[in-house]
Amino acid sequence: MNFVVLGAPGAGKGTQASVLSQKYNIPIISTGKIIRDAMRDNTPFGEKCRPYMDIGSLVPDELIIPELSKRLKEPDCKNGFILDGFPRTIPQAIELNRKGIIIDAVISLEVDDEIIVKRLLGRRICSNCGASYHIADNPPKSPHKCDKCGHDLIVREDDNEKIIRARLKMYHERTAPLKTYYSGCDKLKVIPGQANVEDTIKLTLEAVNNL
Ligand code: AMP
Repeated sequence: MNFVVLGAPGAGKGTQASVLSQKYNIPIISTGKIIRDAMRDNTPFGEKCRPYMDIGSLVPDELIIPELSKRLKEPDCKNGFILDGFPRTIPQAIELNRKGIIIDAVISLEVDDEIIVKRLLGRRICSNCGASYHIADNPPKSPHKCDKCGHDLIVREDDNEKIIRARLKMYHERTAPLKTYYSGCDKLKVIPGQANVEDTIKLTLEAVNNL
């Protein structure tokens, strides 16, 4: 199975992607994480992405598409994968299609912008495994440490209000049109993502049950 998880930054794509990953035993490919890791390691790709990330803009297709293609050729993807954060533009979706990659379902998480801003301002992520917490709604058991691997929790550099609003604008202008693109081929599963996380997980699992 190949899935796409679509949604604004902070809509909960990572959480729903892990649910699908466990159910189908397939990897999550997060292009945001690929970019952040490359920036942390100061690779040439990471350095080219940095100016776009600094202003909350999308990384250009000609940078991200080859990087994603490389990742999808790795052996762990042979039984399927979950794309978290890709495609983010119509040309990226067309590119997947051109490569003959069939997407079985697109999970689109719908969350109001103001809820997103609140969520992202309180988000903390693990510097090692990427697990996500919220200081009020989903705090770690011991402060500043990841429950899963014990590493330090950090605030993502792009989780500040100015950049969050720029990322939301980018989402509405460039990414949201993908819902129309995928609804045409009957693959789109729209999931309200603002209730509690257990309800959202239940809806995601129901949506993929009959595939
Ligand atoms: P995310 O972790 O999915 O919220 O992504 C963080 C940032 O990485 C986004 O705000 C974009 O700047 C960049 N990014 C991630 N995926 C893509 C993509 N498919 N196309 C362009 N930029 C991306």
